[in-house]
Amino acid sequence: MSRVFNFSAGPAMLPEAVLKQAQQEMLDWQGSGMSVMEMSHRGKEYMSIAEKAKQDFIDVMSIPDTHDVLFLQGGASSQFAMVPLNLLGDKTTADYVNTGAWSKKAIAEAKRFCDVNVVATSEEQKFSTVPAQDSWNLSSDAAYLHYTPNETIGGVEFPFIPDVNIPLVADMSSTIMSRPIDVSKFGVIYAGAQKNIGPAGLTMVIVQKDLIGKASKQAPSMFDYATHANNDSMNNTPPTYAWYLAGLVFAWVKEQGGLTKIAEINERKASKLYGAIDASSFYANPVDVPCRSWMNVPFILADAELDAKFLEEAKKENLTTLKGHRSVGGMRASIYNAMPEAGVDALVAFMQDFEKRNG
Ligand SMILES: *Cc1c(COP(=O)(O)O)cnc(C)c1O
Repeated sequence: MSRVFNFSAGPAMLPEAVLKQAQQEMLDWQGSGMSVMEMSHRGKEYMSIAEKAKQDFIDVMSIPDTHDVLFLQGGASSQFAMVPLNLLGDKTTADYVNTGAWSKKAIAEAKRFCDVNVVATSEEQKFSTVPAQDSWNLSSDAAYLHYTPNETIGGVEFPFIPDVNIPLVADMSSTIMSRPIDVSKFGVIYAGAQKNIGPAGLTMVIVQKDLIGKASKQAPSMFDYATHANNDSMNNTPPTYAWYLAGLVFAWVKEQGGLTKIAEINERKASKLYGAIDASSFYANPVDVPCRSWMNVPFILADAELDAKFLEEAKKENLTTLKGHRSVGGMRASIYNAMPEAGVDALVAFMQDFEKRNG
C-alpha cells in the first residue's frame, strides 16, 4: 500500500500520524475494550475525549473566554441559515461581501431570512480579487457582516480582517487553523471540518457568548446556538467519531508547534507553488497576488487540451485530485495543513517536468 499526495479540496488529507493513532485505537480505545465509535457520548471515556478536544482547540486557536466553541453537524451550509436565525434579532438587514461561489451560497440562504445588502462584489473581476474595504457600501443598520475569508473554489483569500462595529461573521471552512488569528475580532467563526480539521460530519462554530440566546422564535431548536451552548454540544448525539478525530488533529497541531509554526510551513508551501507557476509561461494563476490563497491554489495550463494528460501523468506520480472545480476548469491544488511539504515539492517537480516535455 502506498499513500498518495491527495490535493482534494475536501474531504481532504489527514495527518498520517493521526490516522495511525486512530488505527491503533480502533478496536480498543485506551483499555476501554471498545472503539470510540461504540461509546455512549454520555459515558466518562467519551466525555474525556470530547473535553480534551475542545480544550486543545481553544488552546490552538487562542480562543478567549468571551467565546464558546460548539461541535455541530449540518456542515458550513447549515451555518448559512443558523447565522441569520441567531444574529438578526430585531434587525431585518445583514451585510455580506461577495468574493466567490461560497459567498454567493451564503447570500442566497440569508435572503430566506432577511434583506441582504451586498456591500461589495468582485464578480466583475471574475472573483480574482478582494474589494478594498474603503470601497464597501455598509448599511447603517445591519445586524452583522458576513464574509468568506478564503474562497475554496476561486483560491482567493482576504489579506485583511474587515473592520466593522457590528458582529463580524466568517466562513472559515477552508482557512481555519492555517495561521494564527485574533478570534476576539469575530462574532461568529464557522467551518466544516472536512478541509483543515478532520473528517466530514463535524462543523466547528466559535461564537461570542453574548450573541447566544437571541435566536428567532421560529428557529428550530437544533438551529439555536443556545441549545448547543447550554448542553456542551450534546443536546443530541454529536458526531462522536469525527469529534474524536478532530481532537487528534488539534493535538497534532499542538505537537507541530501550534499555528505560528503551521503558518510558517503553509506560507512556504504556498510560495513554492505560486513561485513555480509565476516562473513559467506554461502555468498561470489568475488571482491578484496579495489575495492568493495559502490553501487552495487554482492554476491553468497554457493549452487546456493538455489537462487530461496532466492529470493522468500526475496520478502516476501519486499526485491526485488535482482537477479544478467544474466552474473554473484547469487545476486546483489544495494544500491544507496535512499536506506535507514533500507533496508540494513533488507537485512542483512534476509540473516542471511536464512543462519541459509539453511546453
Ligand atoms: C466546503 C465549503 C463550504 C460547504 O461546507 P459543507 O460542510 O459541505 O456544508 C462552505 N464554505 C466554504 C468556504 C467551503 O470551503
